[in-house]
Amino acid sequence: MAEPVLATHGLSKSFGALQASDGISIDLRPGEIHAIIGPNGAGKSTLIAQICGALVPDAGRVEFLGRDVTRASTEARAARGLARTFQTSALAMEDTVLQNALLGALGASGRPWRFLARADRDASLRTRAEAALEAVGLADLAELRTAELSHGQRRQLEVAVALTLEPKAFVMDEPMAGLGQEGSKRLTGFLDGLRAQAPILLVEHDMDAVFALADRISVLVYGKVIATGSVEEIRRDPQVRDAYLGE
Ligand code: ADP
Ligand code: MG
Repeated sequence: MAEPVLATHGLSKSFGALQASDGISIDLRPGEIHAIIGPNGAGKSTLIAQICGALVPDAGRVEFLGRDVTRASTEARAARGLARTFQTSALAMEDTVLQNALLGALGASGRPWRFLARADRDASLRTRAEAALEAVGLADLAELRTAELSHGQRRQLEVAVALTLEPKAFVMDEPMAGLGQEGSKRLTGFLDGLRAQAPILLVEHDMDAVFALADRISVLVYGKVIATGSVEEIRRDPQVRDAYLGE
């Protein structure tokens, strides 16, 4: 089997008496979408925060591209190609779509922020930003103010900003949240194609999307992974049905 791109080993984190992560070991393999599901408060966002470096685990390790990154900063992980999209939007709403993509491209280039005022005249940054917008289907809307985009289009723009990093893995926290049925369907189609560029660790509540997209599903309950398997395996797991699917 191919080496995992991303892996956690016995990740644990508590907040006072609450064990939010309890020995979590999961991995993400090349080309796959690995969905993490579980009830509210199960510890999904806490897991992601540790994988991306926003939270330091009490115990356990995070490996990315074969290296231990447990103590690496979020910036260092991002620079190596670990791209994250947020549960709440981190876009600059008053800026244009292109400016947001340029901001990502500038960050990815490692050049100083004062360069931003001239970024749209820099051919290499512009090429990178425009390629990312093209990839998510927003090239025609590049000059629009971000606030004018639909909710779904903003999600696509967040992915475009992440794409400017030329990521080796994506970590997404509930990208379908707040999208209508149409929007979810469109984003599902888009993520389906995205896995060819980089595998996706996908925290998601929308079960239609999860069942349509996931190569593997892990079920998190009270900070513990209670099952990992294919869509079919997870759907017929009696423990999962009890704990989560409510069937
Ligand atoms: P999920 O994303 O699965 O809904 P979270 O990871 O956000 O769950 O939260 C898991 C548990 O940890 C919840 O009980 C939550 O209240 C708690 N928690 C999360 N972050 C903090 C924090 N910074 N301080 C205290 N408790 C927290
Ligand atoms: Mg969450």
